[in-house]
Amino acid sequence: MARERFDVVCIGGALVGSAIAHALSENPDFDGTVCVVERDQTYDKCSSSRAQNSIREQFSTPPNIKLSQYGMEFFQNFHEHTHVNGESPALNFVGRGYLFLAKDDMKLANMKANQVIQHANGADVQVLDHDELTKRYPLMDCSDLIGGCLGTMKEGTVDAWSLLQGFRQRAIANGVVYKQGEVVSIQRDGARVRSVTLATGEVIDVGDVVNSSGPRAQKTAEMVGLDVPVEPRSRSSFVFSCRTELEHHMPLVITPDNVHFRPDQQHYVCGTQPDDDVAVDYDDWELRPNEFEDKIWPVLATYVPMFDRVSVVSSWGGQYAFNTLDHNAILGPGSEVENFHFANGFSGHGMQQSPGVGRAISELITYGEYRTLDLTALSYHRVERNEPYLETAVI
Ligand SMILES: Cc1cc2nc3c(=O)[nH]c(=O)nc-3n(C[C@H](O)[C@H](O)[C@H](O)COP(=O)(O)OP(=O)(O)OC[C@H]3O[C@@H](n4cnc5c(N)ncnc54)[C@H](O)[C@@H]3O)c2cc1C
Repeated sequence: MARERFDVVCIGGALVGSAIAHALSENPDFDGTVCVVERDQTYDKCSSSRAQNSIREQFSTPPNIKLSQYGMEFFQNFHEHTHVNGESPALNFVGRGYLFLAKDDMKLANMKANQVIQHANGADVQVLDHDELTKRYPLMDCSDLIGGCLGTMKEGTVDAWSLLQGFRQRAIANGVVYKQGEVVSIQRDGARVRSVTLATGEVIDVGDVVNSSGPRAQKTAEMVGLDVPVEPRSRSSFVFSCRTELEHHMPLVITPDNVHFRPDQQHYVCGTQPDDDVAVDYDDWELRPNEFEDKIWPVLATYVPMFDRVSVVSSWGGQYAFNTLDHNAILGPGSEVENFHFANGFSGHGMQQSPGVGRAISELITYGEYRTLDLTALSYHRVERNEPYLETAVI
């Protein structure tokens, strides 16, 4: 059989790989061929199918705010961007806002500093004092809180599975080829990657390659002799029910202890950062069941007294592709290999960034520069220089 060649090969075909393939295939100035290689097309064990599906403008760096705003616009016009013969998956956007809570001056000062950046970048965010919090959220015990920061109803949740299916179905209809298979080695000739090899032995010649391998980003980077500061970190999610329904609108709440919860139809979804937040095995997707009782529930019951009696109705384990340098996405090529593009390290915000990152990487490949969003600050070059570009609003 003749060896196949594609102008672009994405290694990993979940949200980020599919968003890039989708954007390339939608760009009238790109007339190349695209192949997405995905080791598990059931998507059972990838961040994209284990996420909590929320989008927010409340970040501390302009590129992250702009990326989310791009995502919000994309979600509003999701049908137009993804339909095939008039049919698109149901994205089910629910607007609810995010509410970050503070109980010390330093945290509140940080929120106020972020608010200046957010306003300058067109995000409508309000800092609330203790009295305003108490008035707005009578079901919350605000006694130890000195303030909070609330976003608008543009912040909310979508169905990430539908987002993935939307990217994929439109990309496939546009001619993108999805291959089930694992990339096990990459052939490099000086400053260029020439081909990738799958576990089956199949070799694919390439023009450009994208590392969209999620928590396995470092494994893929190693195949070209590079490093990327991304490691798999365990994140558990819990859905709980409470006998008494919240009568008041409740946003997605992030407590000062970094426990987060939000309503989800008749239940609530929650999670937190584990105390022992270390790299885990690539194949470790296990739930950490004790996290709910030991860490999350005591915090929930402190801030919402009626959560003192709740029951967990479902739960799942997951992995963040955790960027140990600065929690931000790492995008584009480095100085050593010109046609190997990173799209990694999204930590807990890659779902909302996938439409914007798809567009951005497609522009880098097509034009050699960003045209819609300037994401230079997120480039791989900062990794080479060991210069973090820190995001402080991390969940
Ligand atoms: C608990 C949890 C909550 C989250 N909540 C949010 C949220 O509220 N909002 C938000 O925006 N984001 C959230 N995220 C983050 C978001 O899910 C991720 O940032 C996003 O899904 C990353 O997508 P990805 O395509 O980069 O990675 P993944 O979804 O992990 O996909 C990588 C793919 O690459 C494939 N792959 C890897 N190596 C190879 C190889 N060698 N060959 C072929 N295929 C390969 C894998 O099989 C996988 O399918 C959350 C994540 C978790 C775990």
